[in-house]
Amino acid sequence: MSGADGYSVLFEPVQIGPVTAKNRFYQVPHCNGMGHLRPQAEAAMRAMKAEGGWAVVSNQETEIHPTSDLSPYAENRLWDEGDIPALRLMTDAVHAKGSLAAIELAHNGHHAQNHLSRAPLLGPSELALQTAYPKQARAMDKSDIREFRKWHRAAARRSREAGFDIVYVYAGHHMTLPHHFLLPQFNDRTDEYGGSLENRVRLTRELLEETKEEVGDECAIALRFAVDEMLGSDGMQAQEEGRAVVELLADLPDLWDVNVADWSNDSATTRFEPRDGFQTSYIEFVKEVTSKPVVGVGRFTSPDLMVSLVRKGILDFIGAARPSIADPFLPNKIREGRIEEIRECIGCNICVSSDALGVPIRCTQNPTMGEEWRRKWHPEIIESRGKEEAALVVGSGPAGLECAMQLARRGYDVTLAEAKQELGGRVLQESGLAGLSAWRRVTDHRIYDLQQRGNVQLFTDSRLSASEVVELGIPNVFLATGASWRRDGRGKSAFRGVSIESGSQVFTPDDIMSGVMPGDGPIMVYDDDQAYLGGVLADHLAQAGREVVFVTPASMVSPFTELTLEQVKVQRGLLEKGVRLVLSQTLVEITPGLAKVQCAYSGREQSVECASVVLVTQRARETALYEELRNLPDKPLTSLELIGDAANPGLIADAVYSGHMAARNFERDAGDIDREFFRREIVSLESV
Ligand code: ADP
Ligand code: SF4
Repeated sequence: MSGADGYSVLFEPVQIGPVTAKNRFYQVPHCNGMGHLRPQAEAAMRAMKAEGGWAVVSNQETEIHPTSDLSPYAENRLWDEGDIPALRLMTDAVHAKGSLAAIELAHNGHHAQNHLSRAPLLGPSELALQTAYPKQARAMDKSDIREFRKWHRAAARRSREAGFDIVYVYAGHHMTLPHHFLLPQFNDRTDEYGGSLENRVRLTRELLEETKEEVGDECAIALRFAVDEMLGSDGMQAQEEGRAVVELLADLPDLWDVNVADWSNDSATTRFEPRDGFQTSYIEFVKEVTSKPVVGVGRFTSPDLMVSLVRKGILDFIGAARPSIADPFLPNKIREGRIEEIRECIGCNICVSSDALGVPIRCTQNPTMGEEWRRKWHPEIIESRGKEEAALVVGSGPAGLECAMQLARRGYDVTLAEAKQELGGRVLQESGLAGLSAWRRVTDHRIYDLQQRGNVQLFTDSRLSASEVVELGIPNVFLATGASWRRDGRGKSAFRGVSIESGSQVFTPDDIMSGVMPGDGPIMVYDDDQAYLGGVLADHLAQAGREVVFVTPASMVSPFTELTLEQVKVQRGLLEKGVRLVLSQTLVEITPGLAKVQCAYSGREQSVECASVVLVTQRARETALYEELRNLPDKPLTSLELIGDAANPGLIADAVYSGHMAARNFERDAGDIDREFFRREIVSLESV
C-alpha cells in the first residue's frame, strides 16, 4: 500500500464515551522524568505530540495520594487542589493544538516507596516493598479500601477540574493497587476482595463505577489493563483470566487500553523482541468481547501494519509511547504521505532510562525530545543559516550524520567525509551484533535524508588529514572522528590498565565488530564498561558457537541495562547459552592462556583459563586531527568544533545529541546558548 489515501482509515474520528478523538493515533501514558518536578517541560513535550497529530495525548502515572508517593522519581502528582495548576499547563497546551488530554490516575500500593511522605505502604496483602529498602505494605482492611476509593474519586474530580478529557483507572504493569488486587501473586485475601476472579476484580469495578459517577458525563473513562503477565500458567494469561476480566467488565469503561505485564515486557527492547506489533497475539481477543474502543501498543511505526490492525478489527486506536517519542510527528507524516521521513524508534529504551534516573526524557533517535521547553527545540523546525555558507563534517557516525543533516536543513552547503567504505561509524559496527540490527535505523534515517538534499556531498573512503581539510577550503569544520576501544585494560576499575604479557591474545570490541574472530579455545569477555556492549559481545560470541567466560567487577551482568529494563533478560540469556559468569572480579593480569583476576571486595586472586581476552573497558578519543588543525600557525579555519564521541565518549544517544546541538548552535549568539543551558524550573517558595 502506498500514498496517504491508503491510510485514510487512520484519520477517522472515534468516539470515546462523551468525547471524540479526531483520528486513531493515541499516545498512551508514558513516563518522562519531568512530571511534578518539571511541569512546564512536560507540558511543552506533550504539546509537541499534539502538534504532530496525536489525537489523544496522555500524561504519565499520576500519584493520587501521599500513600502513593513515587519519590525520588518524577511522575505526575495530584494529591490535592495544589497540584491542579501544574497539570493544567499540560491540558491547556494539548487543547491549544486540538487534541484530547488523558490522565493516568495511579495508586501504586507496595510499588510506591513513600520516601517523601513517609506514609504507611498499602497493599491487598502483607507485601514487602519491591526495592531493596526494608519496608512492607500492610494488608488493607475494609476502611483502608473505603478510604482509597474516596481518594480515587476525589482525584477523578480534580482531573476534570484540571481540564482532562479522559480519566484512567490503571490496572497494569504490576505497578498499581487495582492490578495487585487482581493478581493471585499479590492477593491472598479471603474476604470479598480476594479468592475468586469476581472478588479480585471487585476493586477495579468499583473504581470504574465511581469514576464514571463522578466525571463520566464530561470525561471518558479508560481502563489500562495488562491482559497477560507473560509468566505462562504461573500468572494471568490472555486466553484464561485475562479474557475473563475483559468479559466481566466488558462495556463498563469507555475505552480499553490493553497491553502485557510487567513493564519490561510491555516496553520490550528490540534486542529481546524485534517484531513491531509483538503484543497483537495477546490483545486481539479484546474487541470480540467489548463494544468499546480498544487501544493497543507494540512499537508501531509501519502505517501498513496500523491499517491492517484497524481493518482486521483488532484495534480502534494505534497506541504508542516510544514511536511517539522517536517521532512526535508520526501521524502528520503519515497523513501527508511522508512515510520515508518517519524517524522510527529503534527500541533501545534510553527513553526509559531517563525515567529511572529521574531526569528529563531523552531519545536516541530524536535529540529534541525533552528539550522542547528548555531549549525550545522543535523536531521538525530549525533556524535557517546565518552569514556562513558552507561546512565540512568529518566522520559519519551518529554525531557526524546528525550534525550534517541538521546543517543541511539549515541551508548550509555540507560536505561529509568518512574514512571507511560505508557511512555509519559505531552504529554500523554495533548494529551488526546479535540483537542490535534495529539500531541501523539511526543511520538509515539520516543517510536517506542527506541523500535527498541538493546541498550535501557525501564522500566515503576519504580519510582526511589536516592539510587535506585546509585544501578543501571550507572554513567551518565539525570533527566527529569518534573513539576506539582501548587495548590496555584501562577502565573504571583499573586506572593504570592491566598487565598484559607479550604473546597474549588480546582483542577489543572494535576487532570483534569488524569481523575478527579470536582463535580456538575459551574466550574471556572482560567487561569493566558495565553498560550493554560487554553482554552483547558475550552473547554474540556464544551464538557463534564459542566457549565464553564473562568476567566483570560488577556483581551482575551489564548493570546499566537495569535502566533499560533488560538486565534480567541479559543475564538469563547468557546463562541459557552456557556462558560462564565470573562476577565481582577485577582483571589484573593477562598471560598466554591464563588471566589473573581479583575479588573486587576481598582482593583474593584466582586464575581463569582462556585462550583469548576481549577487553571491554574504556574508549580512547580520536583527537589527532583536531589537535593538528587547531594548532595550525596561520589559523586557516573560521570555526572548528569537536563533537560526539571524539569530544565525550558516551551512548549513541549522546553522540546524536552532540551533533544536533553543534548544528543548532552554529552561528548563534553565545549568550543565548548559555541562557538555555541554565534554564530550569525553580521550585516555588509558596507553601500550599
Ligand atoms: P560518533 O559516535 O561520535 O559519531 P563514531 O565512532 O561512530 O563517532 O564515528 C566516527 C567516524 O569518523 C568513523 O566512522 C571513522 O571512520 C571516521 N573518521 C575518523 N577520523 C576520520 C578522518 N580523519 N577522516 C574521515 N573520517 C574519519
Ligand atoms: Fe525508541 Fe530508543 Fe527513542 Fe526510546 S530512546 S523512543 S526506545 S529510539
